[in-house]
Amino acid sequence: MIQLPLKHSSTGASIFAVMSGLATQHGAINLSQGFPDFPIDEQLSTFLEEGVRLGYNQYAPMPGLPMLRQAIADDFKRRYNVDVDPDNEITISPGATYAIYTALTAILQPGDEVIVFEPAYDSYIPNIEMNGAKAIPISLTAPHFSVDWNKVRAMITAKTKAIILNTPHNPTGAIWNKADWDTLADIVRDTDIVLLSDEVYEQLVFDGAVHYSVLQHSELRQRSFAIYSFGKAHNNTGWKMGYCIAPPSFTLAYRRLHQFTSFSVNTPAQYAIARHLASGTASVVRDIMERKRNHFLQLLKQTPFTIHKPAQGSYFQIATYESISDKGDLEFAQWLTKEHGVATIPVSAFYHNRHDDKIIRFCFAKKEETLEQAIEKLSRL
Ligand code: PMP
Ligand code: GLN
Repeated sequence: MIQLPLKHSSTGASIFAVMSGLATQHGAINLSQGFPDFPIDEQLSTFLEEGVRLGYNQYAPMPGLPMLRQAIADDFKRRYNVDVDPDNEITISPGATYAIYTALTAILQPGDEVIVFEPAYDSYIPNIEMNGAKAIPISLTAPHFSVDWNKVRAMITAKTKAIILNTPHNPTGAIWNKADWDTLADIVRDTDIVLLSDEVYEQLVFDGAVHYSVLQHSELRQRSFAIYSFGKAHNNTGWKMGYCIAPPSFTLAYRRLHQFTSFSVNTPAQYAIARHLASGTASVVRDIMERKRNHFLQLLKQTPFTIHKPAQGSYFQIATYESISDKGDLEFAQWLTKEHGVATIPVSAFYHNRHDDKIIRFCFAKKEETLEQAIEKLSRL
């Protein structure tokens, strides 16, 4: 049998495939993988059909349909008051995961080091290693999952090529404030460190908080790839559509790779999202999700789970289960799925060494009745 080389250190299937698979197998309510279970905005479906009917069915230009890149630039001007050049700074991607991999591949050479904050979205470290580079994990500080900037200063070496950050944060729901960005700017000022800012949950910030984008930081923006996902902004994760915003020289390096890996992205979906953004009547996903978070937190009080803090952003809530079980979190999540019919994500899956604080993650981007049915099961624990 021919042996193929291992490209990264992660073994087995992604936790999202594992837990969604287990949920299907056991007919459990799936609060594990992050995706909404309610319909997308009707207007978006109409525009998708219209795109197909109007003949948007062949390859789009390599960087993306001009009308979509313009709609994104207008959206950023309106929402963040930042100017983004649609021709030289925006590239449409088949999802944010692909954009993260492509940006890292543009940045990294074998032997480079990349600082990653853990818990970390599960593709980051494999993507670093697939480029022959080394991940340098730094733990966020519980219970608020803030960054210990002294640790960051201490871990930077001559080999540090990039830092990956993610706000609002998956899985903890923590968000960065302006002071975090300014501290980071002080740390990287005299270096060549590139930032990869994963902002896929930018629209989902609650309690009147604001998302501060790296694009609003005029100094840091010059050294950053900012990554977004339409899936998170428009509840259509299955369309696998996202984009990367970066300065022109970074965008050029990114597109040099993109042209030989995907070349272009689903054309009718680009048309539909462009029309949707430009219509000015796209539904405000933040309000919907904040109501769901509040409803879920209220319901969760009927169960023995404990939360330290409501999620400030994203559509995830983490919780501890110490009064229910002393199992490890993976075993607990599997048991909960099989025996009690509710699937969740064990947070140890977001650590390279499977560090286990006995925390699980719920996705609350679900219909009211889904959340209520899940709580009914969990309240029997
Ligand atoms: N980054 C984070 C933090 C995520 O949670 C996700 C969600 N899957 C992604 C990136 C990838 O998004 P996409 O589905 O567009 O690939
Ligand atoms: N981002 C989603 C989550 O964290 C799922 C991503 C995936 O399935 N790869 O649940």
